[in-house]
Amino acid sequence: MLKIEHIGIAVKELKASIALFEQLLNTPCYKTEAVVSEGVNTAFFQTGDSKIELLEATNETSPISKFIVKKGEGIHHIAFEVENIEAEMKRLSALGFELLNEIPKNGADNKLVCFLHPKGTNGVLVELCQEKKL
Ligand code: ZN
Repeated sequence: MLKIEHIGIAVKELKASIALFEQLLNTPCYKTEAVVSEGVNTAFFQTGDSKIELLEATNETSPISKFIVKKGEGIHHIAFEVENIEAEMKRLSALGFELLNEIPKNGADNKLVCFLHPKGTNGVLVELCQEKKL
């Protein structure tokens, strides 16, 4: 894996959290994006080589609503950038890691993504992401 691409943080109210993180990181939010298929609104901040992704649920069945009900706001996932997501999914699946999606899906910020089940990764929801090639 190439690097930590971003850390995803579940928040209740995106607008308030954008203002908070702009102050905390001393950098403006450079992008907001809705991912309708996941029921989330996202906001991104650049921090050096990595990013912070804030996630707000847009409906009650969103994975982010379920997470907040269970655990409250906080770190939701860690995303690793990979060069070839399909090869990496194959490699991890062969090692016994449970993939939450069988084929890469469209994520925010021009990425193909795949999540690993946290029960096989010490409770950490891991996202693999690969920049979509134009
Ligand atoms: Zn993410």
